[in-house]
Amino acid sequence: MRAEAAGADWLHVDVMDGHFVPNLTVGPDVVRGLRPATKLPLDVHLMVERPDKFVPAFIEAGADRVSIHIESPCNVAATLEAIRVAGKPPGIVLNPGTPIKAIQPHLDRVKLVLVMTVNPGFGGQPFIEPTLGKIAELAALREARNLDFDIQVDGGVSEKTVGACAAAGANVMVSGVALFRAPDMAAAITAMRRACHPA
Ligand code: ZN
Repeated sequence: MRAEAAGADWLHVDVMDGHFVPNLTVGPDVVRGLRPATKLPLDVHLMVERPDKFVPAFIEAGADRVSIHIESPCNVAATLEAIRVAGKPPGIVLNPGTPIKAIQPHLDRVKLVLVMTVNPGFGGQPFIEPTLGKIAELAALREARNLDFDIQVDGGVSEKTVGACAAAGANVMVSGVALFRAPDMAAAITAMRRACHPA
């Protein structure tokens, strides 16, 4: 497992259904296949129209954490609760165009908030700068309400953009293209860590 050998902490699995986003990627069987291949936590990001229908299958397949979109047309509170009852940390995700206000009612029941820094669907898109303000707003809200969740960023995250994300308050960085296209993934991860914690 290349990402594990290179020093990644989690393996982020993007699941798209061809409806919520136009792309179609992995199903529970891919998670089931990954499970014996790595000791890393499998962090499953469901970009699907009805995550409520898929949560049990992904957990059964070996997902360690499951995140769902606030924009999903399902009962978001009940789905987060189903993830929690299954013993996994629930996460809520919001797209670049969705305000923090939309996820406020769920913040006390999640362990992770994923702030999308591109519009979901395809890898390799440029980072959307104004999302940094949302990260800062969320970090301030967490502090003010004494809440307990990680702040994750996903989309266009590279050595160039990761420092600004960390400075705004993000502490879990998802990177695809920037790492998988790097000639030396371990060096790329080290450089990103350094960019998050400037001396
Ligand atoms: Zn993702």
